[in-house]
Amino acid sequence: MVSRVIPVNAFDLVLFGATGDLARRKIWPGLFHRFVAGQFDENSRILGVSRSDHETEKFRDIVRKAIKDPEIDDAQLDAFLTRVEYISLDAKGERGWQVLADVVRSDTVRAFYLSVAPSFFGAIARRLEQFGIATPDSRIVVEKPFGHDLDSAKALNAELRECFQEHQIYRIDHYLGKETVQNLMALRFANSLFEPLWNSSQIDHVQITVAESLSVEGPGEYYDQSGAMRDMVQNHLMQLLCLTAMEPPSKFTPNAVRNEKLKIIEALEPVPVENIARGQYRAAGEQGSYKEHAGDPNSTTESFIAMKVEVANWRWAGTPFYLRTGKCLRERVSEIAVFFRNPPHMIFPGTETPQGNVLVIRLQPDEGMTLHTTIKDPGPGGMRLTEASLDMTFADSLKDSAKPQDAYERLIMDVIRGDQTLFMRGDEVESAWAWADPIIASWTDRNMKPQQYDVGSAGPEDALLLMHKDGRRWRSIGA
Ligand code: NAP
Repeated sequence: MVSRVIPVNAFDLVLFGATGDLARRKIWPGLFHRFVAGQFDENSRILGVSRSDHETEKFRDIVRKAIKDPEIDDAQLDAFLTRVEYISLDAKGERGWQVLADVVRSDTVRAFYLSVAPSFFGAIARRLEQFGIATPDSRIVVEKPFGHDLDSAKALNAELRECFQEHQIYRIDHYLGKETVQNLMALRFANSLFEPLWNSSQIDHVQITVAESLSVEGPGEYYDQSGAMRDMVQNHLMQLLCLTAMEPPSKFTPNAVRNEKLKIIEALEPVPVENIARGQYRAAGEQGSYKEHAGDPNSTTESFIAMKVEVANWRWAGTPFYLRTGKCLRERVSEIAVFFRNPPHMIFPGTETPQGNVLVIRLQPDEGMTLHTTIKDPGPGGMRLTEASLDMTFADSLKDSAKPQDAYERLIMDVIRGDQTLFMRGDEVESAWAWADPIIASWTDRNMKPQQYDVGSAGPEDALLLMHKDGRRWRSIGA
């Protein structure tokens, strides 16, 4: 079989925050996998940068431990580590910058990955410019959160744009790197089957769920400042909504795709408080409550949110999008479920219509798609209907060599290629905050408190009522 891996040009990837949690859990393993897949040019290097002092060999041990996959070949890991260097510098001071300037090469792609707190973005961008490390072709990658409201997002954009142009800035939303999310675009725009049905005449409603079974991890202060709306809805669920709802771009280029996504965000109606359910998990057995995890007995931050969102355009008027996300729910599930309208007239007397046609695009676990259809219940006994699923789990249907990559692997290689399609543009992020800010303000203005819900449930009662009053039901979270 011809290799599907397309090598990228030689690069110097400067990874700020190289010792941090995200780097250890996602970025180093992702880079290693791409190296093993043969995607690195032989001259490519990764320059790990952080504040603490380490000899390069000691730092390589840190990276070695981060890539702790029992199946890896030690020789390959050793080969990978020869591409790794370490530089200690102070992101906000002078220390270490000249060393970095002397080490980066001029004849390779330069990419700066800022896996550090957003308060460092501006300072690092300025130092990169001041020391002549940033060039007109180099790229800068920034992690979430991109602001906590419209003003802070504008301020971050302004800081980055002082030193880099928009075509050099890669704002990560790792959901966009997921295989299924890209497949959603293929499903819609590379097939003729669904697109004629993809509108409010044929689609009753859409449910987008990102359910997590874990509680707020680690120290909860960061989460307590943001909550589910800022941490998940404004970015990840918004991106899923955009890709589901957007018009077909005229071509698959970064700006054509992002222009269409922006139009959806701009078409979102304000969401009244009665169309929102906010929740907070309560203590259960050994499991502490959200308030305990957040370290604030009076916290009113939501660990769950469900909302009904309307896209005010010709395609979607009358078809609501229900968004739902939360912590400590029954199972870890992320999916987009598109509910098609029932047949206008049922010709089979005495039979109840089962669920109807639902297209489920699963992001986790087991990335794949399922189309729920209605068929005759096989065998004798008259014309009874039942449900049958056409299932496609990518891991089963793809050969080993084509197993889905982790989102970070894909996105980092896109940065080196210079492809911004799967990254958020500055105006997209600002527009998403412009929509989210008044919603968040409406809770604060009314001093609203989230409703308590049980750990391992599907969220608070209000979320069920939100659907119930529209005569609809949520898809079950887990079995
Ligand atoms: P972290 O574990 O706290 O790591 C922070 C990194 O920044 C460390 O490598 C630290 O170096 C470095 N650093 C701190 N101060 C510095 C300074 N003055 N100069 C140079 N380097 C400095 O953070 P993280 O969890 O990896 O998160 C990094 C970014 O990714 C954040 O923007 C976060 O919001 C985002 N993010 C994280 C996750 C996640 O799962 N962790 C998920 C999504 C997004 P030393 O170790 O040498 O001090």
